[in-house]
Amino acid sequence: MEICLRAYQNVGTNSLKTLIKFITCQSELGHDILERKIFMKQQKEIILDQIPVGPMANFQYFIGDQQTKKVALVDPGWDIDEMLTIADKKNYIIVAVVCTHAHYDHIKELEYLLGLRDVPVSISKYESGVSCKNLKKCEDGDKIKIGNIELTCIHTPGHSAGDMCFLCGDILLTGDTLFIDGCGRCDLAGGNPKKMYDSLFNKIAKLPDATIIYPGHDYGPTPSATLASQKQTNPYLQSESLEDFLHYRMGI
Ligand SMILES: [Zn+2]
Repeated sequence: MEICLRAYQNVGTNSLKTLIKFITCQSELGHDILERKIFMKQQKEIILDQIPVGPMANFQYFIGDQQTKKVALVDPGWDIDEMLTIADKKNYIIVAVVCTHAHYDHIKELEYLLGLRDVPVSISKYESGVSCKNLKKCEDGDKIKIGNIELTCIHTPGHSAGDMCFLCGDILLTGDTLFIDGCGRCDLAGGNPKKMYDSLFNKIAKLPDATIIYPGHDYGPTPSATLASQKQTNPYLQSESLEDFLHYRMGI
């Protein structure tokens, strides 16, 4: 594995300074893999690997803790064989699957994965049409334990009925709810632009400004960004009212 780039960035918070180590690698599998390992102050170390996959610019993730190497695989839409190869090389133990929502590009290879790893699958109870073995339906406020860390479920409907963001420390996995400088479309089945407005402004925007957004697609100028920066540059977070948001998102 050839390391092409290393960069370091300090993200300041009032109570916590997070050092983000960026390593872009050219994998032996022929994929550019952007790995992000978040080293939390207070000696708590979280695994977060952000892996670009598939033809729709999806991001899939491993999130877990370095002590036990236990991780969850987030959104098994594409390239599961390659995801498992990466996990094996890093000695990760996949103990769970979590899905931000049930659109096919986020769950297409779920059944295949479950044939290879017999682990629980967390998907929002509000997401329709989902059935698989080991299904654990989750709702707002639920905690999902992965080794020594916990993911907190935040229900953020709008793109689909059951969109779920997952919060771990400063890390927020936003699926198709919030992209970097964008947000998910609201005109698909289960979508609702008024609920999207509520999810963006009354849930995500109320998290600490130092929260780092890790989206489900690589649609922005950077693969992740702080909530503070998104409040400055994301046009959907500039809306001054629900009407303003509906006009911009839906053209009404
Ligand atoms: Zn989607």
